[in-house]
Amino acid sequence: HITVGVLALQGGVVEHLNLLRKAASQLQSSSPKSHDGVEFIFTEVRTTPQLAQCDALIIPGGESTTMAIVARRLGLLDPLREFVKVQHKPVWGTCAGLVMLAEQASATKQGGQELVGGLDVRVLRNRYGTQIQSFVAGLDLGFLGEGEQPFRAVFIRAPVVEDVITPGPSQTEGQGKAPVEVLGVYKGEGQHNSSEQGKGDIVAVRQGNVFGTSFHPELTGDVRIHVWWLKQVLEVVRHGELVVNGA
Ligand code: GLN
Repeated sequence: HITVGVLALQGGVVEHLNLLRKAASQLQSSSPKSHDGVEFIFTEVRTTPQLAQCDALIIPGGESTTMAIVARRLGLLDPLREFVKVQHKPVWGTCAGLVMLAEQASATKQGGQELVGGLDVRVLRNRYGTQIQSFVAGLDLGFLGEGEQPFRAVFIRAPVVEDVITPGPSQTEGQGKAPVEVLGVYKGEGQHNSSEQGKGDIVAVRQGNVFGTSFHPELTGDVRIHVWWLKQVLEVVRHGELVVNGA
C-alpha cells in the first residue's frame, strides 16, 4: 500500500482527507490497470514516527507561522525538511502549505518565520489581502489535460510565488536539482491585476516532487488536482520517477 499523510498541526486537514479518499476511488474506477492492487492509506500526521510511515504528504492551508511554531515544538521541522529535501518524497502544499514549502517568504507584518523549504521560490504572503477579500476564480490548468473546464480556485489570504530563486553554489543541495515549473497563473481582474503587464501571478508550481498551490482545491469538492497528484505519487512510489537528483 501507499501511505499518504496530511500534516495535521493546524488548518484544513479533514477536507484534504475527504477529497483524497474521493480521488482514490475515482482513480480506481477510471484506470484500474494503472492502479493494480495498490491500496492507498490516508492518515493524519502529528509526530515524527507517523511521518516516517508516509510515502507522500500534503501540507494543508491554515496559518503558516502557527504551523511552523507548532512543528518546531513537536520536533517535526527537521524531519519534514528531511522528508522533502533528502528523501525527495512527494509533497503538496496548499496555501499556507505552499508558504511552508518555499525556500523564502517575503517579509510580512508577522516578521520572519521558519520554513520547511524544497521549492526554490520566494512567496509573498497574503498577496490579495485579508480574509474578507477572499475570492473564487476560474483557472485554466493545462496540467489537468486538454479541454478541461477551468478549475474553480478558492483564494483565502493566499500567497503567490513572487520569484524563482537560484540556490547559491555553496548549497550542495542545489546541484542537479529539477527546475521550478510554473503550472498555474492567475491573470486577475480588477484590484487583483498584476503590476507586471498582465502577466499574472504564479499560483501553482512544481519542482521535482514538490508541488504547491496558492489556492484551496480541498474546499470545492473538485477532485481533479487530487487525482492528478495521486497519479504522480503512484508513479514516484512505483518507479522512483521524478526523483529530484536523478541519482
Ligand atoms: N495567509 C496564510 C499564511 O500566510 C495562508 C492562508 C491560507 O492557508 N488560507 O500562512
